Amino acid sequence: MFDYLVVGAGLFGSVFAHEASKRGKKVLVIDRRSHVAGNAYTENVGGINVHKYGAHIFHTSNKEVWDYVCQFAEFNRYTNSPIARYKDELYNLPFNMNTFNHMWHVKTPAEAMAKIDEQRAEELAKLAGREPANLEEQALSLVGRDIYEKLIKGYTEKQWGRKCSELPAFIIKRLPVRMVFDNNYFNDKYQGIPVGGYTQVVEKMLSGVEVRLNTDFFEQRSALAAEAKKVLFTGMIDEYYDYRYGELEYRSLRFETEDLPQENYQGNAVVNYTEAEIPYTRIVEHKHFEFGCQGGATTNHTVVTREYPVGWKRGDEPYYPLNDDKNNALYAKYKALASQERNVIFGGRLGMYKYYDMHHVIAEALACAKKELEG
Ligand code: FAD
Ligand code: UDP
Repeated sequence: MFDYLVVGAGLFGSVFAHEASKRGKKVLVIDRRSHVAGNAYTENVGGINVHKYGAHIFHTSNKEVWDYVCQFAEFNRYTNSPIARYKDELYNLPFNMNTFNHMWHVKTPAEAMAKIDEQRAEELAKLAGREPANLEEQALSLVGRDIYEKLIKGYTEKQWGRKCSELPAFIIKRLPVRMVFDNNYFNDKYQGIPVGGYTQVVEKMLSGVEVRLNTDFFEQRSALAAEAKKVLFTGMIDEYYDYRYGELEYRSLRFETEDLPQENYQGNAVVNYTEAEIPYTRIVEHKHFEFGCQGGATTNHTVVTREYPVGWKRGDEPYYPLNDDKNNALYAKYKALASQERNVIFGGRLGMYKYYDMHHVIAEALACAKKELEG
């Protein structure tokens, strides 16, 4: 008999399993995929760690979380600085003095501010003091029309499959606007990529824990649940309840990966394609996550992945929860059911239906483990 059955070997399940096992609990971890690490999974292809489910850059300002992950790997000093490509133009992200200089030839923060104010004026007048109600209003009131139309609209509408005017404003709040020449995408204090990839980090978390791969909870639900006193479920909460109140909405992705016989394809780990006409949102060149710090390419081939956003239907991978008001209200109904469970805990991006980054998931898993295991 196990103390815990953990459904999902992603970061939430693996951190919880590690903490429980460390405290002497007997834990069984299952995953329906053929590997551990969930969406953070990396696979070594001829010396290059390929991020199989999209670019994963670790960043946090939470020292406890940073110290926690650093137990399992050395992190390099990779700094995410994606390039946005709009037709033949290349811009630096996040929106900073380099972007503004390239867009408008402004050279000082005062000139950039004046240009942004001019661009925002129309939208601010339209809002007349009220808060932006959707992503389009948020973007136009933050950076104005030129940046919105070249760098936000096409990308966002591809990514989410909806018009910007029908998307929640919070999605764009992740993108900082800076009046300095600084292409570091994140504002966080700590950032990096684990040397050797993420999979070994999770394997270390799970060392000494029984793991069964290719095992879907729903295919042997009662037999598996009978093996443990409690279940930690990190899959989709609506699927757990057999979609009783209806489906939550997700966004899925299709990845197209190529191994190319050249050293350097695009000179950067991430290039976003922001125009609507190109069907993918970004091309990731994986070697730059780990070799960038050492000043260049060290293998004679390179692996690149195009990321195509696609609609989600049952059976597809639910990469992104769609946290708008409608879905959050539906999630609240599932959460109310979950709160009545005595022997099931829900966690992670799918169990909590939240657009979480890795550091959020680790912080939540540590808090969950503390509450559960230390009372
Ligand atoms: P997951 O990683 O989704 O793990 C859940 C696991 O449960 C999966 O392995 C799944 O197979 C398994 N499972 C589900 N249902 C069942 C079932 N019925 N039976 C058995 N197993 C089941 N975060 C960052 O911090 N930085 C980034 O740069 C970043 N980039 C991202 C890019 C993309 C394209 C995506 C999709 C996410 C990105 N994230 C990033 C977010 C990050 O992936 C998540 O925060 C984190 O991996 C979530 O961990 P988790 O354990 O909650 O879920
Ligand atoms: N975004 C954009 N243009 C870009 C990159 C991002 O408009 O070139 C917007 C888009 O709405 C996206 C959001 O910013 O959904 C967050 O993007 P990010 O890459 O930070 O998040 P991720 O997709 O990795 O979760």
